[in-house]
Amino acid sequence: MKLPYAEPYKIKTTEAIRTSTREEREQWLAEARYNLFNLRSDQVFIDLLTDSGTGSMSDRQWAGMMTGDESYAGASSYYRLKETIERIFGMPYFLPTHQGRAAENVIFSALLKEGDVVPGNSHFDTTKGHIEFRHCSAPDCTIDAAADTQLEIPFKGEMDLEKLERVFKSHPKEKIPCTVLTITNNTAGGQPVSMKNIRETAELCRRYGIPLLIDSARFAENAYFIKTREAGYADKTIKEIVREIYQYADIMTISAKKDGVVNMGGFVAMRSEELRRKAMTFGIMYEGYVTYGGMSGRDMDALAVGLDENTEFEQLDARIRQVKLLGDLLDEYGVPYQRPAGGHAIFIDAKKILPNLPKEQFIAQTLGCELYLEAGIRGVEIGSILADRDPDTHENRYPRLELLRLAIPRRVYTDNHIRVIAAACRNIYERRDEITKGYRITFEAPILRHFTVELEPVK
Ligand SMILES: *Cc1c(COP(=O)(O)O)cnc(C)c1O
Repeated sequence: MKLPYAEPYKIKTTEAIRTSTREEREQWLAEARYNLFNLRSDQVFIDLLTDSGTGSMSDRQWAGMMTGDESYAGASSYYRLKETIERIFGMPYFLPTHQGRAAENVIFSALLKEGDVVPGNSHFDTTKGHIEFRHCSAPDCTIDAAADTQLEIPFKGEMDLEKLERVFKSHPKEKIPCTVLTITNNTAGGQPVSMKNIRETAELCRRYGIPLLIDSARFAENAYFIKTREAGYADKTIKEIVREIYQYADIMTISAKKDGVVNMGGFVAMRSEELRRKAMTFGIMYEGYVTYGGMSGRDMDALAVGLDENTEFEQLDARIRQVKLLGDLLDEYGVPYQRPAGGHAIFIDAKKILPNLPKEQFIAQTLGCELYLEAGIRGVEIGSILADRDPDTHENRYPRLELLRLAIPRRVYTDNHIRVIAAACRNIYERRDEITKGYRITFEAPILRHFTVELEPVK
């Protein structure tokens, strides 16, 4: 008999989580004003709000926490992280920051001026925020196929090179300080970008003299998809693939809370010493001295180990198999989600499950509340509450897709938890005809309302 698959690690520390009754959850959800962000984490059984900063560190990372050097300047932890970044990404210069958006803040402070244009493949919301906050624009050049949830293609997060070239042609070079390529494409559902597309994007940028910045939160998962899906890469190691990806980049920003498998951290790295000098001033102003940025020495050590470990195939294979397991179970139960399964999350297609619920009653939010009531599972709405109101008309915006994102933290839950999640989704799917009423808003902030919105059930 062929031996079944098992994870390449065993568990040394556990953290208790507890189940609850439906009555308890009804009460907690009402107290949380039907906003899952307002729940206390101990009211949640399985927390799929995000995979950011929620992974579990390895014993070697915890050992790194003990050997951290907390010197203000020139800490050995900084040099260990620097050596790792040079070895893994081939980037000679870097500045540590406290997380990904801080890296964006530092580099965009050095690069962008009002009126600039920064094209990309579905900029992440903080990236777009940092661009638009500086009165610059962020045209989206993602391939059209990314918007079709049922289309199965291997690299659904790619840059559309024709759209990108159109942006390049319609602005003078001085107006485009960089192009942002996000791998994997988080906003498009954790969908990867092929090496071919990375190379061709870089070539196009070079032809127009525009630097390429890779937003690298899930770079290792992207490398895994290149290895397993792109011709010519099956025999290369993840580290070899990562080195090739970053040959094409001039700059990288990273939220280390994802593929760095740490709870907090990030950095910006670059090839140009001149750019590092320019960015350094902002790093010192916003984050801290150049050899720690926003990070403690121990955090830099944990990150150095995390980057090394999580660029090994077996680690990524265990993670992405688990995301795929959830997708496969949902296939078996007929529950629709954005296909194919991405690297870090499953996006349930709420509109397909609740086709008769009026959009004004917040379809994905309603499904999110149902999943919490069903099994104490917390996902996050990616729909019309997240989309905010139109800044000019103040009308609600209703995006084409209403998704419930179930993000899977790294090395935190077992396949048994995944089975609970799938079964809970199935139960809701089977009684979907009974869900005829959604929610209405009773309080909302003017922007980024999804974090603090308050709702009540429609009677
Ligand atoms: C999470 C993320 C960021 C922002 O990082 P934070 O650590 O949350 O500040 C930027 N880009 C992408 C693609 C991300 O997933």
